[in-house]
Amino acid sequence: MARRFGRSSSFAIMLWMQPACLLSLIFSAHIAAVSIKHLLNGPDHDIDVGEQKDIFEINLAAGLNLFQGDILLPRTRNAMRDPTSRWKFPIPYILADNLELNAKGAILHAFEMFRLKSCVDFKPYEGESSYIIFQKLSGCWSMIGDQQVGQNISIGERCDFKATIEHEILHALGFFHEQSRTDRDDYVNIWWDQIITDYEHNFNTYDDNIITDLNTPYDYESLMHYGPFSFNKNESIPTITTKIPEFNTIIGQFLDFSAIDLIRLNRMYNCTATHTLLDHCDFEKTNICGMIQGTRDDADWAHGDSSQPEQVDHTLVGQCKGAGYFMFFNTSLGVRGEAALLESRILYPKRKQQCLQFFYKMTGSPADRFEVWVRRDDNSGKVRQLAKIQTFQGDSDHNWKIAHVTLNEEKKFRYVFLGTKGDPVNSGGGIYLDDISLTETPCPAGVWTIRNISQILENTVKGDKLVSPRFYNSEGYGVGVTLYPNGRITSNSGFLGLAFHLYSGDNDVILEWPVENRQAIMTILDQEADARNRMSLTLMFTTSKDQTSSAINGSVIWDRPSKVGVYDKDCDCFRSLDWGWGQAISHQLLKRRNFLKDDSLIIFVDFKDLTHLNRTEVPASARSMMTRGLLLQGQESPALGESSRKAMVEESLPSSLGQRHPRRQKRSVENTGPMEDHNWPQYFRDPCDPNPCQNEGTCVNVKGMASCRCVSGHAFFYAGERCQAVHVHGSLLGLLIGCIAGLIFLTFVTFSNTYRKLQQ
Ligand SMILES: [Zn+2]
Repeated sequence: MARRFGRSSSFAIMLWMQPACLLSLIFSAHIAAVSIKHLLNGPDHDIDVGEQKDIFEINLAAGLNLFQGDILLPRTRNAMRDPTSRWKFPIPYILADNLELNAKGAILHAFEMFRLKSCVDFKPYEGESSYIIFQKLSGCWSMIGDQQVGQNISIGERCDFKATIEHEILHALGFFHEQSRTDRDDYVNIWWDQIITDYEHNFNTYDDNIITDLNTPYDYESLMHYGPFSFNKNESIPTITTKIPEFNTIIGQFLDFSAIDLIRLNRMYNCTATHTLLDHCDFEKTNICGMIQGTRDDADWAHGDSSQPEQVDHTLVGQCKGAGYFMFFNTSLGVRGEAALLESRILYPKRKQQCLQFFYKMTGSPADRFEVWVRRDDNSGKVRQLAKIQTFQGDSDHNWKIAHVTLNEEKKFRYVFLGTKGDPVNSGGGIYLDDISLTETPCPAGVWTIRNISQILENTVKGDKLVSPRFYNSEGYGVGVTLYPNGRITSNSGFLGLAFHLYSGDNDVILEWPVENRQAIMTILDQEADARNRMSLTLMFTTSKDQTSSAINGSVIWDRPSKVGVYDKDCDCFRSLDWGWGQAISHQLLKRRNFLKDDSLIIFVDFKDLTHLNRTEVPASARSMMTRGLLLQGQESPALGESSRKAMVEESLPSSLGQRHPRRQKRSVENTGPMEDHNWPQYFRDPCDPNPCQNEGTCVNVKGMASCRCVSGHAFFYAGERCQAVHVHGSLLGLLIGCIAGLIFLTFVTFSNTYRKLQQ
């Protein structure tokens, strides 16, 4: 059956209690000292919960024979070429309560990827006629384009992955599969005799009347491309191979949008900007992205290139001639205390939290200092109020490091880098800066960098593992990651495994145990400079009281680690069982993009509370959903629309789809708003959006409350809490009264004169 390359086919929960190497550092970021634990013949408490299957495999297993495997077609509409079926943003959505909590979190995570990389946005449903309701039905599927009557996206069992959800939303936005393009036979071979009988229709191509490529080349890397083993009869024989053999291991990737997927999406919807990417700079251009040097400081940052062997950038890691720029502040000249400023242009935030991510390297004296500041609007419109946010001290580690700095800016601001010379006599270098990205998203709770990764991949065997240090999430839970460079003992060869565990920590006595409804999110970073083009691997699951293990006498795995974990002398703390994927990503995919840049692997870990998402469903309006009039595509019907093998969808889908929605109760917890992260508390919401001030008053956020600054003209001014009342200026009023009195007097004089003349 179908299996995607580059995606784990074994979805094993790894549980075992071997003590492993562990560094008991309590930093939010950490560079791993390489210490590898070899698994000895101890008890193995692994639990397999089954295979991680691709979309088409899941749908096949569910007995669905949908158009192209995962598309539900309406009887008449043709979405891709029909502009009326393009969505207006933000797209209203409902998260049905039949969804698993993990799926809800994954859907909101996928929304954030759209907001980071495109102009697509989503908002909670408020009675609109067009909307998407995400439901847990049988299989993973979507309709194409806006049906304008409300439509389902099914996130069924094992569909709750970031990339799977992105794929289904792309269908809803109007996209077909890549290999349905008219010109696909120029790029791939279809092995018709290897396709399961009656499923050949999934490999049909469609002409320009149905599909448009939006003037982009065929994309083997598309998130919308079938994998090589889709709908195959024989497990080991592919149904699709690529004409350029290198892409046989790429097609069917399930990491994230490809660069061309994004070009198409942004073309289809005329996107000119993204919602959450505020700034990004890789310093490859001479204008250094509009950043400016300080004018009152002692020295300048230099725009360096990778021409010297010791001076290598991070973007291209010195691999290209005439490219590979970075910013450099030399700390080996001059005197101690001399400083240099580098400031961003003025930025206008939409949210109230930002994450500034950058790579830096300090090769000078350990006394050198590198600081991040912000310069804020001082409420008069001038960006001048300074605040120091974070300091990085020099040390003996002269590698490029990733840094994350949380900003909480609400009004226009600049971010500022300040380098200070600590000890020029003992400095042999300086401070390097490269690959900045500023996003309006939270920074990760933990960042783990593993150096010399190629050596680790080569020198370790299946089952060997590395354990991250302890990180704390915002609530205070101690969390960590286990890396299996060559997978678990039971994994197929050529994969890297990744698992999550809890650590005992400083706050355990006041925390809730067992800790349930928390989404553990692990991301292997694609270290591409531009955050929009990163195709990072993200895996997530949500903790529950049902997750128990016989290895701990049936206890909940997420109970207090000092109770159910094992003592680990390396951290002098307790560590819970591991939960994760033995085959998270293939080595082939890992080596292809920028996962191993600078010979380092970077892993983010988060542990987010999703309890507030338990009840998210809101009642849809009385209109019936688009469930009738849907059909499945027959195999001998190449065209959309009329099919000779029509079947009502209700027959093959679970009863819940064919029915009207059961009456939904209005819940107190609303879903995510557009451009608002569901995890963000109420106080992140902008009281000035929409502007409550009338008569063009300016709204100012004063401690979370809207305060109106009313417009004042020469003659009139506005007042009142919302600038609703109009007033006339006092001096003008006096003038007016004077004028009116004068006029009355003049009229009186004129009248009395006329009257006297008439009498004469
Ligand atoms: Zn699909």
